Amino acid sequence: MDTRISGRTRLLGLFGSPVGHSLSPVIYNFCFDRLGLDCAYLAFDCAEDDFSRALDAMRLLNMRGANVTMPCKRAAARLVDELSPAARCVGAVNTIVNDDGVLTGHMTDGMGVVLDLADRGIPMAGKRVVLLGAGGAASAVMAQCALDGAARVDVFNRGEAGVASARRVAEMLRDDGASCEVVCRPLGDGREMHDAVREADILINATPVGMRTKAEGVSLITDTGVFRDGLVVYDAVYDPPVTKLMSDAASCGCRPEHVIGGRGMLLWQAYGAFKLYTGLDMPVRELQAFLDKGSRS
Ligand code: NAP
Repeated sequence: MDTRISGRTRLLGLFGSPVGHSLSPVIYNFCFDRLGLDCAYLAFDCAEDDFSRALDAMRLLNMRGANVTMPCKRAAARLVDELSPAARCVGAVNTIVNDDGVLTGHMTDGMGVVLDLADRGIPMAGKRVVLLGAGGAASAVMAQCALDGAARVDVFNRGEAGVASARRVAEMLRDDGASCEVVCRPLGDGREMHDAVREADILINATPVGMRTKAEGVSLITDTGVFRDGLVVYDAVYDPPVTKLMSDAASCGCRPEHVIGGRGMLLWQAYGAFKLYTGLDMPVRELQAFLDKGSRS
């Protein structure tokens, strides 16, 4: 029995489906325990159609907050009371904070990349970014880079529909006052994308290309001549921990410390949510050590 639970314990949770595989309960409960917070975190399997009832339950049970995963992220953006700038531009929510019954939706996926880079001494302000993909993760990363002061983001996507949706996000960001120049183009034969990478400070892959079950051993960067000292390469893919993009970048001129995989994004998006829930810094190093120990045993 967990002796931490009291009559005043505040509940937080995860809504989505499926959620049984999620690491979020382990991550948040570990941090509550470490910081001595009287909070508990559970995962709730919730279909998209039931999401408004989940929000009613949050108010009724006075839950402090909830993370939202697929397929409920867009429904969450439609149904909460308020939206953060990133969540409004992207049209999706992964974190909800309950302040006395007022539910505010945030999107911390993009923060995951920006905070991870900042922790490695690479601030986003003034950077030229090439972003591959225009799906959920890419839109969140695009919005956060722009909101955190990137000078320019060049988005390349395979399909035209994704390019159009990225352009809509870029328009919202402009309307929101972001001064970052965002240019969204189709990937095509990759020539323009490779040219853009030659001019960039940071390349971010936010497609599943390179992922274990999808396209392991494949990279969208086919001309490894674009890799060089001074280019940061960030792959949102976290399984495998080293993708083809990353191994090519490391062996073709990028500094090893500037070749980064998606595990940090996972951790730092949780850091962003934890800060919103508690106002406190998540004990990232301790959590990392705890998770590393778990994955080895
Ligand atoms: P998504 O919404 O389905 O979007 C997928 C994007 O990748 C779309 O833009 C799609 O282009 C593009 N794409 C798919 N296959 C492609 C291919 N063979 N060649 C070129 N482009 C391709 O997925 P998502 O949720 O954004 O996730 C994308 C990746 O990010 C996944 O690997 C996921 O694991 C990772 N991710 C990591 C974290 C983390 O914390 N590290 C968090 C979220 C996501 P079209 O528009 O042409 O289909």
